[in-house]
Amino acid sequence: MAFIRNDWTIKQVEEIYNIPLLELIYQAASVHREYNDPQEVQVCTLLSVKTGGCPEDCVYCPQAARYHTDIDVHKLLPVEEVLESALKAKESGSTRFCMGAAWREVRDNSDFDQVLEMVKGVNKIGLEVCCTLGMLTEDQAQKLKKAGLYAYNHNIDTSQEYYDQIITTRKFEDRLDTLNHVREANISVCSGGIIGMGESVKDRIGMLHTLCTLPEHPESVPVNALVPVEGTPLEEQEKVSVWEMVRMIATARILMPKAMVRLSAGRVRMTVEEQALCFLAGANSIFAGDKLLTTPNPEVASDQEMFQTLNLKPRDAFKGAAADKFDRQAKTL
Ligand code: SF4
Repeated sequence: MAFIRNDWTIKQVEEIYNIPLLELIYQAASVHREYNDPQEVQVCTLLSVKTGGCPEDCVYCPQAARYHTDIDVHKLLPVEEVLESALKAKESGSTRFCMGAAWREVRDNSDFDQVLEMVKGVNKIGLEVCCTLGMLTEDQAQKLKKAGLYAYNHNIDTSQEYYDQIITTRKFEDRLDTLNHVREANISVCSGGIIGMGESVKDRIGMLHTLCTLPEHPESVPVNALVPVEGTPLEEQEKVSVWEMVRMIATARILMPKAMVRLSAGRVRMTVEEQALCFLAGANSIFAGDKLLTTPNPEVASDQEMFQTLNLKPRDAFKGAAADKFDRQAKTL
């Protein structure tokens, strides 16, 4: 079994990324089999608990207050409503429940207290509970951990070099700081990015390089294809081809063998055959439910049919790299 490395050079990442496609898929599929059960795919549900009105300027995002998009803006949802959704998600086969709030950063106020209640409640339901709330301080990360948070999503989105073309209201380093706070609080890290935003291949390689050279690999790496939304600066962006997604997924799989590589936004525009290629290349997680925060996603029923066709099985909660760590932590308590 190959070592888990976080000392990859940019040249090595580039070489892997540029392996002829079918050979790349073969190599990624081989690594995938060494570290994971290739039949197992984690099903996650993502709920927007606070939608729109965000002060940031991420050019891909319909929730930024400055763009005129057609989304249903709402304040933080009541705890009961969120817990009802979590129960439904569990009943339909999800093992991870992720709550997203369109905030720049978490503030120490009653909204945060409410999110902590949500985290406690979802944890009790027996789901891996994840949040994506923007930037966090060390102290806030600790509070989330104490409430039972299992994972925190904070994408780096793109390469460090291209970052200011995508977001100007914060810096790439801010992202890394939050990831560091999450890691320090012993919360499982979920971090990936988006392709199809006009970035170059070099940027895609740069983004993967940042992720695979973090002191510890993220336990979960979402690979998103941009879903252009009318009213955002990227509304006219062309669709990325499935081959670009497969190449990203396969490269991520080889670089970070144990991570859950998540086929995320953009899946709605893929056929089952295209998604099968992504699973072959090492993707082992998807989002379920008809919405991904505010953008469309395949229906639960069509996913269940896909699982049957491809003989995939949903992965149990609290399994894999992150769970090992929690076990270790439990033993030291
Ligand atoms: S991606 Fe997040 S931080 Fe950026 S505008 Fe959208 S909600 Fe705000």
